[in-house]
Amino acid sequence: MNRLGVLGHPVEHSRSPELHFHFAGQFGLSIDYQKLEVLPGTFSEVANRLIKDGWRGCNVTVPYKFDAHDICTARSENAQATGVVNTLSFEPGGVITGHNTDGPGLINDMVHHLDWRLREARILVLGAGGATQGILGALLEAKPSAVHVWNRTHERAVVLSQRQTDDRLEARSTSELEAQYDIIIHASAAGLSGQRVDVPPRVIGSLTCAYDLSYSQEKTPFLRWASSLGAAATADGLGMLIEQAALAFEVWFGQQPSTLALRRAEGLEARA
Ligand code: NAP
Repeated sequence: MNRLGVLGHPVEHSRSPELHFHFAGQFGLSIDYQKLEVLPGTFSEVANRLIKDGWRGCNVTVPYKFDAHDICTARSENAQATGVVNTLSFEPGGVITGHNTDGPGLINDMVHHLDWRLREARILVLGAGGATQGILGALLEAKPSAVHVWNRTHERAVVLSQRQTDDRLEARSTSELEAQYDIIIHASAAGLSGQRVDVPPRVIGSLTCAYDLSYSQEKTPFLRWASSLGAAATADGLGMLIEQAALAFEVWFGQQPSTLALRRAEGLEARA
């Protein structure tokens, strides 16, 4: 049996188990995939216990992507570049390899499925946590003209934007935000506590495409707000979740699952 799971706090909302059971079914693989609520300060202890129990690996979500990076003994190029890890692979000899599939997962969803244009786009990212750190490199590779990062705690956005030497990447305070970005990506954890980030309405215009990394049955508060301001298109993070999960599955099993059936079942193909 292949033992896997997702570690986070909170983790109850995660839909990762159903995605991985679906992918495993495509290859006739038998997996046990659990959601593990990990208490603050215990991430490394829990991961070591999973290794002892013979787990094959795990996904890592809020707020442990930095801890996951730190416990690795080896890191993929993407994990090294981003400094955050969302997928751990437990290998023979106690090797813990870290990967980050969030950035490629987001680009697969946004560019290849939604058909949103990132090239030459002015992009605003809201939030400066592990998720933002994981996606900035992939966004810059898509050749936008600018990527601005806004965060509730501005200093954290400044530190994050200084991790890379790229003139297109800048931390912006509320008063420095431009009007009518082409793409606006909500990547804060505000939604987890039923809140919404406090940014001025001018950031959204009738040509803005708004993406929320959070996802829920109902339209998220951020996407409702964007729609109310006349955004051209909206999409939540379920598509990204599916795409990053497929890449994590490939890390563990070396086989690339198809995401199309899942996307169709979730009505995602109709969003574009
Ligand atoms: P994190 O590392 O804990 O970072 C949290 C971020 O949210 C920080 O920038 C924090 O700002 C901000 N924040 C928290 N509460 C806020 C509030 N009430 N108002 C404004 N800002 C607030 O979390 P993360 O790993 O970056 O994850 C962020 C979100 O992305 C989560 O909802 C997660 O589920 C989602 N996500 C989705 C996918 C997907 O596949 N769809 C992948 C990755 C992440 P401060 O710095 O001021 O505290």
